[in-house]
Amino acid sequence: IPAELRERVEDVLENRRPDATERLIEFATTYQQEEKAEEKRDEWRETTVAERLAHALLKGIGDFVDADVEEALKEFTPLGIIEGPLMDGMNHVGKLFGEGKMFLPQVVKSARVMKKAVAILEPLMEDQDEASAGKGNIIMATVKGDVHDIGKNIVGVVLSCNGYEIIDLGVMVQTKDILNAAIEHKADVIGVSGLITPSLDHMVAVAKEMERRDMTIPLLIGGATTSAKHTAVKVVPEYGGSIHHVADASLAVGVVAKLLGTGREDYVAETRAKQEHMLAQYNAKQRKRPLLAIREAIARKPVIDWQASDLAEPPFTGSKSLAPSLSKIAEYIDWTPFFHAWELRGSYPSILEDERYGDKAKELLAEGQAMLETLISGDRLQAKGVYGYFPAASEGEDLVIFEDESRTSSRMRMPMLRQQGELKTCFSLADFVAPAGALPDHIGAFAVTAGLGLDDITGEMEATHDDYSAIMAKAIADRLAEAFAELAHEQVRSELSISGDESKADLIKENYRSIRPAFGYPACPDHAPKQQLFDLLGATSETGISLTESMAMLPTASVSGLYFFHPQARYFSVGSIGDDQMKAYKERGGKPLGLSGI
Ligand code: SAH
Repeated sequence: IPAELRERVEDVLENRRPDATERLIEFATTYQQEEKAEEKRDEWRETTVAERLAHALLKGIGDFVDADVEEALKEFTPLGIIEGPLMDGMNHVGKLFGEGKMFLPQVVKSARVMKKAVAILEPLMEDQDEASAGKGNIIMATVKGDVHDIGKNIVGVVLSCNGYEIIDLGVMVQTKDILNAAIEHKADVIGVSGLITPSLDHMVAVAKEMERRDMTIPLLIGGATTSAKHTAVKVVPEYGGSIHHVADASLAVGVVAKLLGTGREDYVAETRAKQEHMLAQYNAKQRKRPLLAIREAIARKPVIDWQASDLAEPPFTGSKSLAPSLSKIAEYIDWTPFFHAWELRGSYPSILEDERYGDKAKELLAEGQAMLETLISGDRLQAKGVYGYFPAASEGEDLVIFEDESRTSSRMRMPMLRQQGELKTCFSLADFVAPAGALPDHIGAFAVTAGLGLDDITGEMEATHDDYSAIMAKAIADRLAEAFAELAHEQVRSELSISGDESKADLIKENYRSIRPAFGYPACPDHAPKQQLFDLLGATSETGISLTESMAMLPTASVSGLYFFHPQARYFSVGSIGDDQMKAYKERGGKPLGLSGI
């Protein structure tokens, strides 16, 4: 009996959870769908082998690939199969995706079928070079210091579906290695990706180095913190070749097709003009909206009437490890970002009823949940965390963390930034901790991961050309890491007796007292203090999470941050800061990393 079915049936029989009935019924409907699909399955098996291959591609069905390819070899050459039925199928997929009639998860599944078939055919081809007679080749890499690759992998899959050869250099790739590979492979396009803000600087460095080497290859920029604006303002001025920001996977094919097609010059000129306009607009806006002087911003800090009753009283100081089971963590998953990872925009659960892609969303969710079940029952993925409470005070914009409750010697000083825009109140996270000499306050800290062992699991999937499952497993591990952070935060509030009776829905909305800002996010955009946070918690030895030179966490499915407990503590965005604050920040020991996002 499949594990998930068995679990849901046992939940009902043994009355193990209040929503057992709903869960079983929900699961039963997926069974019905599977059975219907099975009936239909047989019909398409009656057609010609070329049609069957094209159909399998279009629907992403991998079960018959081996048999069909073998049969097709009686009729076609290996290259004939790739360039005939397989490419026809893929072109059809690419077209439907471009028209918004097919969604990303299906495209990635189609690509899996393609890869599987090509893996069988390639060894049979006499002249290996024949295989790469595609439309052009593209070097892709996640830049130095960054480890995130879901987006890059998705773009790679989508482009390869459209006949481009992808040379994927992986993650944490040095600029020189990207450019050398581009030259060696005579790349038509280079695509760089990154998720965290320090990567933005590395992308600028890639552009600069391309200019220094007199290169002319077009450069594509993609990843969560990149933007058309950052590209126009910071990257484009560094390189004479053309640079294109690709906002998501569905746009990548359009951009590359135009860059390598006949209307290339027009497209490049048009993009340049748009980027110059964006830069001019940005500069004008900067002039029009000057920042407050930092003195003035400090004068506008929030007024907090410090009361002992508003402070949290931790049950211990120092750090403690956390090791909840994956199935416990799974109860805290927020599914909305899962759909975003697959480029289905909307929020859970209403997305399931969406007119356009409700059915696809349901299917994707069922597959995500099946992967979750596989990861939980496989017993190879591990979650580990650490959290703690520390005596602390604020001094201006600094958080001072003391050795112990005597508060006589300080253990570390974490510099924070303050909003400097024309605002009524200018916040700094330091405002939410009682000033030195006043009441004895505390901050909390945490680092959690649900990605230990994930590389082995996804490595095996990738080795069998199953990018779909590898991307799915990474997306689920990311969800578990965020869920773990939510679970840990709930435990912390409960230990501090500052929780209300929040429902799971409240948790997803973060509708409770206390915040857990994460370094690199808007309230504390500098990534550098993450190293201090890790030292404070002993995070690497406790959890196995390590930091790259850009302060990316490895495994990627990890979350870390501080806890602030004051009822007025809230999230905000520091936004642009002035040279005066930057200078003061550095004088206070700040070594900013990743503050150049726009
Ligand atoms: N339920 C979501 C939670 C992640 S997003 C999920 O499963 O993905 C919300 C988190 O981002 C917060 O808990 C906090 O850690 C971080 N965050 C959001 N806004 C922030 C800000 N302005 N400054 C710092 N961190 C922020």
